[in-house]
Amino acid sequence: MKRSLYTIILASLLISACTNAQVNKTTNMDSLKKDNPVFSKTDTNKVDLSNAEWKKILPADVYHIAREKGTEMAFTGKYWNSKEGGTYYCAACGNPLFSSNGKFESSCGWPSFFEPISKGSIIYAPDNSHGMQRTEVMCGKCKAHLGHVFDDGPPPTGLRYCINSVILDFEKAREAEKNFNSKGK
Ligand code: FE
Repeated sequence: MKRSLYTIILASLLISACTNAQVNKTTNMDSLKKDNPVFSKTDTNKVDLSNAEWKKILPADVYHIAREKGTEMAFTGKYWNSKEGGTYYCAACGNPLFSSNGKFESSCGWPSFFEPISKGSIIYAPDNSHGMQRTEVMCGKCKAHLGHVFDDGPPPTGLRYCINSVILDFEKAREAEKNFNSKGK
């Protein structure tokens, strides 16, 4: 009897801990965007901030990827295996980067795309760090580090844009349509 009472108490504590974690996560996501004055999905002007300024407005994990060219661990990001239809924006500035139509299943552990959403959405730079010759890809609006592009992708481009989930902000197609329609009224 005593043991089952303990089990019930423990279970309810665990459930409330999980619920709180979820609530906090959602609250944080919303407040993080609210605290970021340069985040906009409609303003296409270039964003040019110092790292000190970025540090004040970006969450630590986004800052690490965007400004310190970090890499999340393979198979740990939230989008590497996602098949949902929609648009991937830059998590630092809101620039549209990739469409789910350009995403493909890759076994590398990071979200992979064969093309960006438009030519100007991405900029490229040679990266010779870590003893490798790679091509770095950055956000065309705020120059956040996104990942790298390789030439072992599928047709039609033969390219594989290997991108960190942390620097992506995904909007489902249906939500985008809703937002578009409400603005049109
Ligand atoms: Fe950006």
